[in-house]
Amino acid sequence: MNRKMILSIFATICIIGLAACTAAPAIKTTSVSSNANSTSTLVCSAGSASASLTSELTEGPYFTANSPERASLLEDGMKGTKLVITGYVYTTDCKPVANALLDFWQADANGVYDNSGYTLRGHQYTDANGRYQLTTVVPGIYTGRTEHIHVKVQAPNGELITSQLFFPGVVQNDSDGIYNASLLLSTQSSSDGMQAQFNFVVPAP
Ligand code: FE
Repeated sequence: MNRKMILSIFATICIIGLAACTAAPAIKTTSVSSNANSTSTLVCSAGSASASLTSELTEGPYFTANSPERASLLEDGMKGTKLVITGYVYTTDCKPVANALLDFWQADANGVYDNSGYTLRGHQYTDANGRYQLTTVVPGIYTGRTEHIHVKVQAPNGELITSQLFFPGVVQNDSDGIYNASLLLSTQSSSDGMQAQFNFVVPAP
């Protein structure tokens, strides 16, 4: 192998290396912008010892009392993207709350509420570890509102918190006066739809 060949091989390696380095940020940017995935840090995760109360937001005009107790709001033939939200209910010192009430209600994929029945409405209680899981569909937008899921959360004998959950990457978030970034779900696409996480923080009884 002569000196010219060695220099040629060296130059080729340098060019490949440079290309790999300059290409890396481009790949990263593409993967973030091509979907609405969000991996924001969940409150009370990663060893946190305290957290602020979940922000309260207006109940809005479409709450119906006495929703059925159920963890899945999905029904046969329901349109939309399947969504599974999991998380915990904590107190401000990041202690999980067992038996906490979570009452969810939302619009369907077309942005329409069932105001005569209980479609896409249901309440459930956290398990012994303070965990909940909601199976539903991604709600549609309606006039003036971005995608959101309404919720009431309450520790046993504690103060009731009324709030809403939001979705990252939705254009209408910016024009919705009620939207609050502290209430963004952490979302990932799944094999049959979307999965998401959110941890609530409620006043201790
Ligand atoms: Fe609403």
